Amino acid sequence: MTLSARLWERVRQRAAFACEYCGITETDAGGLLTVDHFQPQVRGGADDPTNLLYCCHRCNLYKADYWPTQPTDPNLWNPREETVETHLLPLTNGTLYPITPTGTFTLRRLRLNRPALTAHRLFRQSRAEERRLLERYREVVNLLEQLNRQQAALLEEHRALLEEQRTVLRLLLQTGE
Ligand SMILES: [Zn+2]
Repeated sequence: MTLSARLWERVRQRAAFACEYCGITETDAGGLLTVDHFQPQVRGGADDPTNLLYCCHRCNLYKADYWPTQPTDPNLWNPREETVETHLLPLTNGTLYPITPTGTFTLRRLRLNRPALTAHRLFRQSRAEERRLLERYREVVNLLEQLNRQQAALLEEHRALLEEQRTVLRLLLQTGE
């Protein structure tokens, strides 16, 4: 059974055009991603928006038809129910560190520390750092402009005072004559 184009598009837009497991966008991938049944159809998963995820080809390939059938089978992280931080801690070297059994299993199953993804996270981190620095630079420039304006106002005030002083002095001299 194939999904209706409308449902497919709804899942795609809901995910903001990015893989809900690894964060790769259509722009990164250079094309459309896929729609994944979190509970696979062969395991009884429905074509329901709550069971559908936008997913890159890699993650879909590695996830395949996994579904826990035994009580001891580990659970896969469901991005529609929990944020990634619930199970995986992003490190500054671009890798993810599992903090729950679900995180450990998902990381291994979907290979979320695959080199291309790690490099991609590092790239995003450096872009975020650049943006932060640029923002700070703008703040400093704004502060300097503000200081310049204040300084100009003070100079103007100073000049007016000098003028006033001269006037008073002239009056005093004239009175003294
Ligand atoms: Zn992915």
